[in-house]
Amino acid sequence: MYNKASLIAEEFISHEEITATLAYAEENKENFALIDEILAKAEQCKGLDHREASVLLACEEPTRVARMYTMAEELKKKFYGNRIVMFAPLYLSNYCINGCVYCPYHMKNKHIARKKLTQEEIVREVTALQDMGHKRLALEAGEDPVNNPIEYILECIDTIYSIKHKNGAIRRVNVNIAATTVENYRKLKDAGIGTYILFQETYHKESYEKLHPTGPKHDYAYHTEAMDRAMEGGIDDVGLGVLFGLELYKYEFAGLLMHAEHLEAVHGVGPHTISVPRIKRADDIDPTVFDNGISDEIFAKLCALIRISVPYTGMIISTRESKEVREKVIRLGVSQISGASKTSVGGYSEPEPEEENSEQFDVSDKRTLDEVVRWLMEFGYIPSFCTACYREGRTGDRFMSLCKSGQIQNCCHPNALMTLKEYLMDYASEETKKIGEALIEAELNNIPKEKVREICEDHLKKIEEGIRDFRF
Ligand code: SAM
Repeated sequence: MYNKASLIAEEFISHEEITATLAYAEENKENFALIDEILAKAEQCKGLDHREASVLLACEEPTRVARMYTMAEELKKKFYGNRIVMFAPLYLSNYCINGCVYCPYHMKNKHIARKKLTQEEIVREVTALQDMGHKRLALEAGEDPVNNPIEYILECIDTIYSIKHKNGAIRRVNVNIAATTVENYRKLKDAGIGTYILFQETYHKESYEKLHPTGPKHDYAYHTEAMDRAMEGGIDDVGLGVLFGLELYKYEFAGLLMHAEHLEAVHGVGPHTISVPRIKRADDIDPTVFDNGISDEIFAKLCALIRISVPYTGMIISTRESKEVREKVIRLGVSQISGASKTSVGGYSEPEPEEENSEQFDVSDKRTLDEVVRWLMEFGYIPSFCTACYREGRTGDRFMSLCKSGQIQNCCHPNALMTLKEYLMDYASEETKKIGEALIEAELNNIPKEKVREICEDHLKKIEEGIRDFRF
């Protein structure tokens, strides 16, 4: 039944294939000859399929596990350098007709404050986000065809792109909304979105149906096949994710990689990003009632293995994770993080009164964007506010080939430095600015092509003079 090129959810995410994969992984978890062969393949940056990667996940032999971590760090340096792209979520509406049992926006929750931003409120929210220094957003909304129809989302995107406050601008809007039709995906593409993000939540069909007992999201196949419709609608950057804690992590990991293999087989391009959210406490949600919570150790191993299995796919960590966990996993392959996030509807422009709570979940990392930016730089990372690729048409397979060719260092690296410079000039505290200026000076030497370096230096001077938005 398993067929990665099929367009039917139950065939490209075959339960039998996952079960057989987990049995194979268990049988081979001490087959060190096979494990070394898989590690050698991964070392050549060839990626791993779900069976190979599942064997590594099952393997607990300390020296080999240590090798997985080292390799993840090396691959990250090779493909992503020391850049970390910054973004913030923007909650548009928490009206929702679904019954997701882990999410406080579920329809039966009668005491959570239901809110939907008006276009005026969006202007206030986005102005506040621009004033922090954000350039890239991920839009979030519940599923509600009456309150949040596609026209509302499109209007919000238009408003967001039109807001130019001081030197600020939102230059890339990613969208995380419920599975929809090809026609609607086409509309999102035409509205100029970057990545379409949709978390699978769980790849285990039976659990999926129990965890989504009511509403349109109950339909496992419609949800699982959404990325194919998105791609048919012209969106070639799609972001996958699993909500870890709902089902057994080994099952989810195999499913996630099978989904990536499916996209590659059918559309010739894998996922642009993978997110790794874990369930958090929320309004009427207690995360401990879900039996499959994973430790920080397993979480780190999953991040490392995603990095070595799909070297060209970006990995996203949100503020669901604490500073300490983020510190641990960033070096294992994370390429994007959010900063100073609010998960309430309207939380950026003014703090929400306690009796009006509309938050989706508690955030663990509550630092300001300035603190996150400084912290990254103190660890030797370059916080990047770059949004150049999709604006230059480098999406889908064009982005992947840039990544594979190694030319990223002549492109993403100077773009990161120039957008960091904008951030330092317009939004940073004095202390952050000092660290950042020294970092840019040092990192200019890591642009391989002399000509590119010269142009970048010239642009940096022009940014000091007040000109904005240079990009390679
Ligand atoms: N409503 C959209 C959908 O149906 O896919 C997506 C937007 S929702 C605001 C974004 C994601 O938040 C969900 O896909 C889910 O994985 C995650 N989420 C929901 N409840 C959560 C919780 N209690 N803790 C952590 N993440 C949660």
